[in-house]
Amino acid sequence: GEGEGGGEEYLFKIVIIGDSAVGKSNLLSRYARNEFNPNSKATIGVEFQTQSMEIDGKEVKAQIWDTAGQERFRAVTSAYYRGAVGALIVYDISRRTTFDSVGRWLDELKTHSDTTVARMLVGNKCDLETIRDVSVEEGKSLAEAEGLFFMETSALDSTNVKKAFEIVIREIYNNVS
Ligand code: GDP
Ligand code: MG
Repeated sequence: GEGEGGGEEYLFKIVIIGDSAVGKSNLLSRYARNEFNPNSKATIGVEFQTQSMEIDGKEVKAQIWDTAGQERFRAVTSAYYRGAVGALIVYDISRRTTFDSVGRWLDELKTHSDTTVARMLVGNKCDLETIRDVSVEEGKSLAEAEGLFFMETSALDSTNVKKAFEIVIREIYNNVS
């Protein structure tokens, strides 16, 4: 909508979903604060982080939501999804079970969304090549079949993290402008 200066203002809600311990919280902390936490702990307190980028000379803000660990109980609330226009669906390339869950997460996302959602399938922990359990090709073909963007990332060494978020943000911008 119109901002105070007469320019357009954009604020997009993006959710990160996927099984427990795939690296959702670390993808967000890497993107928003350039931080990585080697200790797995349920996210406490912070519901979302806001990150800005510039597109077409306009400031575009992404409000990126992280689960508070409730995915462990297979019950991410509808409030979490409400108003989301972008989603990162994350699995761990070293744990096939997390890849097998992607369909369930896509279903849940669909159930809770009433608008077009820019969706990116993210194969995280690509630094763990030696214990890879899901090939790049499998990730790609699932993404193609479901009409998702696809990227392998590493929150540990930063590979493609910024890129993954920015592709989603750009796609949302394209959807609404
Ligand atoms: P979440 O439950 O999906 O939020 O996952 P976390 O972000 O808490 O990460 C779970 C565990 O995986 C933690 O021990 C992280 O340090 C580790 N981790 C997260 N991202 C990566 C990554 O890209 N590479 C590696 N090797 N470990 C990661
Ligand atoms: Mg987490």
